Amino acid sequence: MTLFSFSHWNWKVISNEFESDTTNSTEIYTKMLEKIGCPVDVAVVPEGLKPDDQDVIFRRFSKTAKISTYLYAFIVGPYVSEKNNAPNAKNYVPMRIIARKSIMKHVKTKEMFKVTMAGFDYYENFFDCKYPFTKYDQIFCPEFNAGAMENVGCVTFSERVLNRGSVITKTEKEEHAITVLHELAHMWFGDLVTMRWWDDLWLNESFATFMSHMSLEYAKGLEDYSLSWELFLSYKSWGLRTDQFSTTHPIAADCATTEDAENIFDGISYGKGAAFLKQLVAYVSEEVFRLGVGTYFKKYAYLNTELNDLITEIQLASDSKHLNIDLRKWCDTWIKTSGFNIFESKLKESGGAHSRITDFKIFQSLSLYGDNCYREQYITVALFDDNFKISEKVKIKIDAKEKTTVDKLIGKPAPKAYLLNYEDWGYGMFLIDERSLEAFKAGLCFIQDSLSRKLIHNTIFFMARDAKISSKTFAQFLKSQIIHESSQDIVEDQILYNANVILKNYTPEEFVVTECNDMMHFLLYDFIPIATSEELKETILKGIISLACTEDHFKLMMKWIESNEVSFDKEGIRIQISDLIISPEIKYSMLRKIATSTELSAETIRKFYETHLENDDNKDLVKSCKLSCEAAIYDKASKEKFWIMVMSEKPEISLYDQEAIMRTFMPRNQKAIIEPYVNRFFEDIPKVFRTRECADRDSVFYMLSPTYFGNHEILGKYRKLIEDNQDSKSLILRVKEDIERIEKYIRGRELYNQEIKNGDVSVKLQA
Ligand SMILES: [Zn+2]
Repeated sequence: MTLFSFSHWNWKVISNEFESDTTNSTEIYTKMLEKIGCPVDVAVVPEGLKPDDQDVIFRRFSKTAKISTYLYAFIVGPYVSEKNNAPNAKNYVPMRIIARKSIMKHVKTKEMFKVTMAGFDYYENFFDCKYPFTKYDQIFCPEFNAGAMENVGCVTFSERVLNRGSVITKTEKEEHAITVLHELAHMWFGDLVTMRWWDDLWLNESFATFMSHMSLEYAKGLEDYSLSWELFLSYKSWGLRTDQFSTTHPIAADCATTEDAENIFDGISYGKGAAFLKQLVAYVSEEVFRLGVGTYFKKYAYLNTELNDLITEIQLASDSKHLNIDLRKWCDTWIKTSGFNIFESKLKESGGAHSRITDFKIFQSLSLYGDNCYREQYITVALFDDNFKISEKVKIKIDAKEKTTVDKLIGKPAPKAYLLNYEDWGYGMFLIDERSLEAFKAGLCFIQDSLSRKLIHNTIFFMARDAKISSKTFAQFLKSQIIHESSQDIVEDQILYNANVILKNYTPEEFVVTECNDMMHFLLYDFIPIATSEELKETILKGIISLACTEDHFKLMMKWIESNEVSFDKEGIRIQISDLIISPEIKYSMLRKIATSTELSAETIRKFYETHLENDDNKDLVKSCKLSCEAAIYDKASKEKFWIMVMSEKPEISLYDQEAIMRTFMPRNQKAIIEPYVNRFFEDIPKVFRTRECADRDSVFYMLSPTYFGNHEILGKYRKLIEDNQDSKSLILRVKEDIERIEKYIRGRELYNQEIKNGDVSVKLQA
């Protein structure tokens, strides 16, 4: 297809191909339109733009390759661009990074080109297929709804993915690289070969997710990146969480309509599918996988495919290596069924002081929801000695049945602890046995590789979600281990995500403030003063802010903003945290919290944020922060105004601004004033689902759904919502998930209360 555009002369217009002609002559313009069968009188010319206007220009772009319609794009605006000036740039197609002028200074262009070129080399080699298009532009767009989009030759990123702070943590840097490599992988998976229908969305997303982590791990030139599989675990965890709901679906989903398709951009299509691919590599070997994928691209370039096409190529590759496996049958149990398996293990030993393993069994059971199906998979079991060093690791095949005996471990010295899914090749819920759990409580931090530590932390997080341990025990475990943690990524995952989820939802309402307060004080008094790096300090500070919930916390943060330093008084001594800069983004998150105060007047809050925002040059972030602060203010009339704004059928503000409002609209410390909006949510949300598009309605639902009330009364309201809205498939799906979330919260809260009743509140933990 050939694309044309008509725009202001000094705006950049970026599309899938380069411009081939530009003109502002009416005559040429008219001729061009006639040539393509679009006479000037029917051409859609934007108001105010006329072909003979000296300020406007007409552009024609080179003809594109044969690509799917969703991959065409125009990006238009007063952008600036930077070309790839690396010494080896000529070995690649022309590349540019494009952004608004004020944003460009935050883009690490050199690093981004480096990652992109390394990705080109890796993918071309792995897929045995040259990059199929003529150029590669990467554009940062303001207020872009998705994180990024793989338009052919002109990938768009949301400006949100850019960190504008002074410290960019290792996790942030590597996550950004993953996004770059994910979109690049789509040039092959998705753009060169496109799924026939949305049933096979996973062919796009799971592959891009898996391959981006493969390339970050193995691409030449990216040796300084080391978090690939740790970050991958977060995707898998998303997959497993989604798979726990009754609404789960097979990786190859059944999509009758595009509405169904909109609902499967989820943890299954991205996380579980990618986890399956990692397992597939363990199952058939990387060599066979690579061979199959290579022939797949040769055969189906510029065509549409479905699941069987890929499996057939990998099967043929496996046959050529005489592997003697029936891949189709095995894949069916993974891709065409929903749900996951739970793995428990039993180790028997004998021999006193020099005890040896006499029996080792793995038991497989079925998840609560999904298809009843045992699955065959390869995992690696690692044994740890008394010093938490790995004494043994064996790759084993778990059979597709209830019980697997691991003969390879019989006769080995009995370990202090062991880990079933070492290196994270498997997918499922790999429970930690009692002996290992006790050992990890005391010495998880001594395990050398960070992926194993993250796997164990992650399992304990799932145990708290499943009410196998209380939020209090979770917090005790976290505190005892995190303080010795050297991986900034694990600290970030545990504090910013897991601790927030567990403490705020799985704790009975009356203890939430106490638990958050305890954790926050631990981070402030005990952890941040001993943190050794700037990035670790910044991560902990973000954790402190995320847990802040009392008026004292807000006052403390006001002091930090005023003095531009983080300090506190402990036993009469003032302690100041050195090497910690309060970046604008950190300041914005503190301002958002402070604005939720129920004691400070609206006038005080306004004056405070105005004073501390007036000299900032991040105009868009400042605007968004101000909106959040206003929406947070403890005032009935103001809340009502913002509620109407975001719940409207046709909001007059962008989704980006609506999200700024919703982020602070319902803080739990404002219960008295926000309680009416709980009922309003149930009244208004059906209309939002009837009238607004997917990204909008999902944002409204997820940001305002009052799940944290977490009691039986609110459950009734969610159930009623389903009864009353039988025709709204997308709404029902989300409500069902929230019901199951709340049921989990209730179980967790009951366990917490039970422990208090039993006096079992201080589970013994040592560091
Ligand atoms: Zn994608």
